[in-house]
Amino acid sequence: MVEVTDLTKVYGSTVAIDKVGFRVERGEIVGFLGPNGAGKSTTMRILAGSLGATSGTARVGGHDVLEAPRQVKQLVGYLPEVPPLYEDMTVRGYLRFCAGIKRAVQPKQATERAVERVGLSDVAHRLIGHLSKGYRQRVGIAQALVHDPQVLILDEPASGLDPAQRVEIRQLVKELAAGDTTVILSTHVLPEVEAICDRVIIIQDGRIVAQDTVNALSAPGRSVVVRLQSTTAAALAALAAVDGVQAVRDEGEGRVLISADRDVRAAVARAAAPHELLELGSHRGLEDVFLQLTEGA
Ligand code: ADP
Repeated sequence: MVEVTDLTKVYGSTVAIDKVGFRVERGEIVGFLGPNGAGKSTTMRILAGSLGATSGTARVGGHDVLEAPRQVKQLVGYLPEVPPLYEDMTVRGYLRFCAGIKRAVQPKQATERAVERVGLSDVAHRLIGHLSKGYRQRVGIAQALVHDPQVLILDEPASGLDPAQRVEIRQLVKELAAGDTTVILSTHVLPEVEAICDRVIIIQDGRIVAQDTVNALSAPGRSVVVRLQSTTAAALAALAAVDGVQAVRDEGEGRVLISADRDVRAAVARAAAPHELLELGSHRGLEDVFLQLTEGA
């Protein structure tokens, strides 16, 4: 459904994203996970057709975002980081307006469907400026899907919400994705990815550092810590050369963090043994993998 190849965006001297490539199949829920400034919003804005890339290609439903922006906008619903809400419009009035500009088929019915799907019936008559943050975010999501797009791109859908509202928005996104809608969302909050997504793309400094299913990334043995008598260049090289190892980080005092695309415990033990291995441990959980891949590695 979404195919991105070598996508690059340069702002002056800042490389926001650098040769990013991934695919998202129909009906998948994929999370872009990364620290602030990693390039998540830039990638999403390009996919949504609201920003041009410097080089590379992005296709949605077979249409190139640059060459066929109209078709792409019809297929894509986009919630930007700051939703474009008009505070002095009512929820229903605003969504009706969005249905019109997005050329929804039967805009009136489309508006009511969006109100219903996103759980806005009780506040549909109210002014957007009078709503709580959680409801305003719902309105932002409703404007993204009012024209019944096949792909939803949600930039930090739960940011700035209190914990109860975050849970509500997560639940809502899961419900919306239950059909065959494809969802790409970004977050810097791990529990969001674990709660909602099938697959995660971890992005750091404009590059993809890992992409896999949430289950695979949090499987044991992909995140290993060893303690050696001392870390030497030869030891680090031996660990980096282990099949499947993606990143090796010297933490000082003989401690080395290793992340891999498979269970490397036994192979790391063999590689570390000649370098006075004192301890070997394995982390579980996406959080460790995320921290290892994105913290300075
Ligand atoms: P994220 O969404 O992961 O926080 P962004 O895509 O917003 O990251 O930003 C990626 C990088 O591009 C950052 O270094 C950011 O400062 C830079 N950037 C984003 N937008 C602009 C812009 N309009 N002008 C210059 N630099 C920008």
